[in-house]
Amino acid sequence: MNYRDFGNTGEKISALGFGCMRLPEYEKDGKSFVDQEKTDEMLAFAFENGVNYFDTAPHYCNHNSEAAVGHAVKAFRDKILISTKCPMDDDLTGDKYRRLLERSLKRLDTDHIDFYHFWGIGRKQFDELILKNNLLETAARAKQEGLIRHISFSFHDDPSVIKYIVDTSESLGVKMESMLCQYNLLDRANEEMIKYVHGKGLGTIAMGPVGGGRLAAPTDLYSRLTGKSAIATYELAFRFCLGNPDLNCALSGMQNIDMVRNNIKVASDGAAFSESEWQQLGEALEEIKKFSELYCTGCKYCQPCPVGINIPHIFEMYTYRNVYGLKDHAGHMMQEYLKKGGKTFKDCIDCGTCEKKCPQHLEIRKNLDMVCRLLGE
Ligand code: SF4
Ligand code: SF4
Repeated sequence: MNYRDFGNTGEKISALGFGCMRLPEYEKDGKSFVDQEKTDEMLAFAFENGVNYFDTAPHYCNHNSEAAVGHAVKAFRDKILISTKCPMDDDLTGDKYRRLLERSLKRLDTDHIDFYHFWGIGRKQFDELILKNNLLETAARAKQEGLIRHISFSFHDDPSVIKYIVDTSESLGVKMESMLCQYNLLDRANEEMIKYVHGKGLGTIAMGPVGGGRLAAPTDLYSRLTGKSAIATYELAFRFCLGNPDLNCALSGMQNIDMVRNNIKVASDGAAFSESEWQQLGEALEEIKKFSELYCTGCKYCQPCPVGINIPHIFEMYTYRNVYGLKDHAGHMMQEYLKKGGKTFKDCIDCGTCEKKCPQHLEIRKNLDMVCRLLGE
């Protein structure tokens, strides 16, 4: 495993981080549970192979992820870094922050959290919750008490807001110590800001390095970009992320042991692109930018749709067709979807709730119409 200095936090972080948002689950009596046995096996295997950063959040896996992670890492808790997040509820006060922190500590069955994030913030949450309710001070107090070791944030907004958050926090005497943000082959919008915060000493982590699973399909993308022989697309995605000298860790939401094995192999090979390779590839990537005009990360925040349209799945078909050129495969996916009674744009009742919830601010209805037409539906 490849390790890097995690900004100025004094920690060493593994190049591959374990995202615990897609742990294996099963249903019983209409309720969802995490498959603890498989989870224990996956996390232990990752740890034994050098992964030392495990990222969870209160809502992941139907609110079961934190407890499942706590159980899985029990035997090696003091040798790893645990990251979790404070939900930015509209009524978040200092007291509630504290209650949520204590709930996470309890679920994780630990006496401290290594990286505690203000979760998915943008300018609005920073101004209207964090600044207004003095939450930076609340976080600093929790840090002094040893309940959290580092103050962090994860981010969803225009990239320029990152500078505002980091600089404002610093000017108020509470430094942000690490940042988790979207960054991958097809979405490099935060790249400049990753460089900026890295220069200020923050640890930097990419979420979605494999594009919400979209880059899992085999492709000749790498050979098209470089003229070299093809490599697996997830490998390309990782090597690209890890080749960025300003990025410390790529977080992958791993669902099964095979994924853990594959990712560890890529992160262990010392296979990150060199800085010059990374730069060359970046230039070639400009060429494929045209493919990412419909950038759906598959986060599912737009779900459920009241009439049951599986929006991320339909957008995934578009990516297969237009980014990877897998036209037949995309057509086949639509046929399968329809066979199972899948709803499409023609069932849309135009309520607009999906668009209000999409962190990518996609014009979902317009795009659904376009994709459904394209795929002959
Ligand atoms: S606008 Fe259409 S696609 Fe979006 S949630 Fe409403 S019914 Fe579903
Ligand atoms: S909320 Fe937006 S980005 Fe997330 S799955 Fe839905 S359409 Fe895609």
